[in-house]
Amino acid sequence: MTKPGPIEQSGQKNDPYVCASCGNCTLVCPVFRQMRWEPYGPRGKLSITKSILEKESEFNLEFTRKLFLCTLCEHCTTVCTTSIRLDRFWELMREEAKARNLTPAPVKFASESIKRTGDPFSIGRASRLLWAEGMEDIIETRISAKAEVAFFLGCNVSLKHPLHDVARSMIKIMEHAGVEYTLLGEEESCCGAPLLWAGEPEGTPTMVEKNAQALADLGVRKVVFSCPSCASTWISSMHKSSGTSAVRKMELLTASQFINQLIQKGLLAFEEQPMITATYHDPCISARVLGVGKEPRNVIERIPGIYRVEMVSTEEDTRCCGSHALLNMIDPHLSAQIAEMRLRDASVTPASLLVTECPRCEMAFDLATITLGYSVQILDIAQLVANSLSSEEGEGDVQQ
Ligand code: SF4
Ligand code: SF4
Repeated sequence: MTKPGPIEQSGQKNDPYVCASCGNCTLVCPVFRQMRWEPYGPRGKLSITKSILEKESEFNLEFTRKLFLCTLCEHCTTVCTTSIRLDRFWELMREEAKARNLTPAPVKFASESIKRTGDPFSIGRASRLLWAEGMEDIIETRISAKAEVAFFLGCNVSLKHPLHDVARSMIKIMEHAGVEYTLLGEEESCCGAPLLWAGEPEGTPTMVEKNAQALADLGVRKVVFSCPSCASTWISSMHKSSGTSAVRKMELLTASQFINQLIQKGLLAFEEQPMITATYHDPCISARVLGVGKEPRNVIERIPGIYRVEMVSTEEDTRCCGSHALLNMIDPHLSAQIAEMRLRDASVTPASLLVTECPRCEMAFDLATITLGYSVQILDIAQLVANSLSSEEGEGDVQQ
């Protein structure tokens, strides 16, 4: 690296020298566990970076490819014995790749799509309400309505057909609990997380501000996200926000945090379920970044007839589904292999149902049930809750 712009400016240039080569990060890295070759693990990539800094090797296409074979799952960060902010380091290296015009084509496609159509798949705003089929009467009254609570769907849940039931489920839950809520509908835009993953972090705050200001103008004080990466992106961006105080003061919750609040307030009533054994998969961002782990477990335990068992590697120690940070677009095969590896953890439990709270995890595991030939139902926590609601409404107060 002759002029390591983003790395140099960040003050993390010395990280490869701080590394003690203990290998903790390599042991937990899902990419290394599949590739089984040191240069694909975090320690190996740090070592290559060191040799680039010392001009012994080049920051070339081959190294960039290795850099992007990473789900930004943050597992390496949490186990690093020398406390290197590896999460930030990998993002900076992606910025470095972008500065050198080496960004992989699928990642470029995602970032250009966001600028063109407001989503990373180039699907477009006209499709953002297809999920609402069958509940148009309810949804029409909620789009851009004044309300204190907003439901932010995110691009996956809005635009991918297999996930539309996640959105419908959250609507059923809010209607059942008597929550006054609003939706941005076709005006909702990508949260901006894929821009971070593409090495273009300067574009993310604009995306967050745009969505958040639109909600603040509707009187929103609490935002519920169907995707923990959207929640995390908003939280980290709004800490640095130059937006209005209404935007900065918003309470930002994952689906399980919000549903747990509704349960605590007595706003959800459940039907007895037919003896289902369930296990919960912690999405990396929920557990490792947002510290959400107790809430989804509490929600599952409050549904009568659902029995919860644990997999190995839970909460902060969770294992990645393989789909984060665009790996499912960069290398779908590797991404699928990582999903299979995590699903094997579930397969040695007696669970017939795997619950999670991330749309990417849900899609990855759905596919892995087929490729592994392992029969287990995969549901988002909103789907499990909506399917278990009683026909009577909850009995708590209606304060949100
Ligand atoms: S963030 Fe996850 S995938 Fe990337 S190097 Fe660290 S452990 Fe491996
Ligand atoms: S855990 Fe930290 S110190 Fe140990 S090899 Fe990985 S980066 Fe280096």
